[in-house]
Amino acid sequence: MVQTEQLIKRFGQNMVLNGVDFRVERGQTVVVIGPSGSGKTTLLRCLNHLEKIDGGRIYIDGELIGYREHNGRLIEDSDANIARQRAQIGFVFQRFNLFAHMTALENIIEAPIHVLRQPKDEVVARARKLLAKVGLSEKEHAYPHKLSGGQQQRVAIARALAMQPKLMLFDEATSALDPELVGEVLKVMRDLAEEGMTMVVVTHEMGFARDVADHVVFMEKAQIAEQGPPEQIFGDCLNDRTREFLGKVL
Ligand code: ATP
Repeated sequence: MVQTEQLIKRFGQNMVLNGVDFRVERGQTVVVIGPSGSGKTTLLRCLNHLEKIDGGRIYIDGELIGYREHNGRLIEDSDANIARQRAQIGFVFQRFNLFAHMTALENIIEAPIHVLRQPKDEVVARARKLLAKVGLSEKEHAYPHKLSGGQQQRVAIARALAMQPKLMLFDEATSALDPELVGEVLKVMRDLAEEGMTMVVVTHEMGFARDVADHVVFMEKAQIAEQGPPEQIFGDCLNDRTREFLGKVL
């Protein structure tokens, strides 16, 4: 479903993605791990065209993301096309980024009504189901500052799901949370994975990677250094660097 071909991304002289071939099959949860600065966040941001790329190609369901071919060259796609592509991809950030002046419910219904132009009553009904799904039915009218970090992040997940995305990207969704709030967010992510959502999850939560991932990608120095099923990566991984990294974080 997701496929990158020789993806290249630089920030100035800094090569951040150096020929990355990354794949996600429909319904899979792929967890991306690796040391700080290895390019994990940048890979996610490229998938959503939040970053322009310097080479290679990204396809989602066979459609080129962010660009179109013109006389054998890639030129950036129109804003409208990029917005259409982004609307199909949910992105959950480390910081929850809820609209502070809107209640939990209003946060969730905003984009389906104003971007997808869906009927309000339909969207509200769906939003209430999503609030129930993330365990926050009773917080429908709460403003973000009245919610804990874990609750805010669960609203952020519900908000992304309200767009009925075909792919969900999670960028260190639990890193900013107090330790006792991490589990409630991971549980929502685990439920989603079990329901068959296609997910790419950048995380330092190795327990989640081991238990929930169908496939684990270890990034190092702008490249995929090793990848495979969790049993392989957390079992007797072949690559010395993977072993060394896991030795530090486990
Ligand atoms: P972490 O686990 O610390 O979040 P990461 O693996 O997600 O790290 P990235 O955030 O993708 O790594 O960053 C990869 C490299 O790109 C780093 O060297 C970082 O400093 C650089 N970088 C990221 N974003 C930018 C930017 N907007 N401008 C310049 N350099 C950037």
